[in-house]
Amino acid sequence: MVASGICHTDVFLSCIPSGVPGIEYPRVLGHEGAGIVEEVGPGVTTAAVGDPVLLSYTYCSNCDLCGVNQKQYCLNWDGLNIVGDKTLNTAGGDAVQGKFFGQSSFAGQSIVDEASVVNVKGTVNNEELKLLAPLGCGLMTGSGAVFNSAKVKPFDIVVVTGIGAVGLGAVMAAKIAGVKEIIAVDRIGHRLQVAKELGATQILESKPDTNLTEELQKLAGGGRISYIFETTGVVGVIQGALGALGKHGKLLQIGVPPMDGELKVPLYRLMNQNQGFECIYLGETTGQEWVPKMIKWWREGKFPIEKLVKFYPAKDALEALHGMESGVAIKPVLVW
Ligand SMILES: [Zn+2]
Ligand SMILES: [Zn+2]
Repeated sequence: MVASGICHTDVFLSCIPSGVPGIEYPRVLGHEGAGIVEEVGPGVTTAAVGDPVLLSYTYCSNCDLCGVNQKQYCLNWDGLNIVGDKTLNTAGGDAVQGKFFGQSSFAGQSIVDEASVVNVKGTVNNEELKLLAPLGCGLMTGSGAVFNSAKVKPFDIVVVTGIGAVGLGAVMAAKIAGVKEIIAVDRIGHRLQVAKELGATQILESKPDTNLTEELQKLAGGGRISYIFETTGVVGVIQGALGALGKHGKLLQIGVPPMDGELKVPLYRLMNQNQGFECIYLGETTGQEWVPKMIKWWREGKFPIEKLVKFYPAKDALEALHGMESGVAIKPVLVW
């Protein structure tokens, strides 16, 4: 492993106690890995020894939904990506749960699923791997949602709630797609400034008492909010944003809500205004399909991820987590 991004899902999973079905410790998390192949198993054709690779989630390739190119909803997703298996060992030889998202990238060396591998030989040099490590989850999730789930049009006004790596992926993609307005919402001013640099046309610094429905409608200036890319998972934010949708608008839920989170759904308004609420995963694409697209945009200067990445030596992982919490590191990347 050369580098690994830290994503909120790593934090979320680490907070689930042992004993919840599928959760076992010790385990190695990490799912935005980049590395160089040192060895391949029998039958592997995706990569060879020495190839630079970026890692994304894994899938079974055999279920009904994988069969219709909906691999992000693979029917075996949780078992393969969340539970993983005991492929790793401690220095003392004890078995450790690995293969988180098929990769468990918070490790100097790991054993990864072939389906997680995006071979970038010939397109990315070994030095660039460090910066591009986070493409496999957060940035793919945000940018893929704009193109694959919303399929935005030039007349669309879009809102992005939560300006982490997922939200900024959505902002950059919406700019590439050339939508009419991009409204970014966050509680941290510094993140909003980055959003502005990357394409947001309006920003809203929210406070706990902000009436999100009213403020968003004000910023839209009477225009129709067509898509909301919701990356915070905070129930109050989701509820407030939902109220701001315009006709035929849709809220795409991307951030993970709390396990006991509940929403009030105004059914008549949704029907009458033909509005929708949909939970989506991973930009509705695969690493193999989407990572090369993001690399191309990055080379063209349209996907400047260097503006959100902050590197930390792997041994300073805790500092990196605090950096993510305070907002100084929008996308912390651990480097070995
Ligand atoms: Zn499957
Ligand atoms: Zn992630």
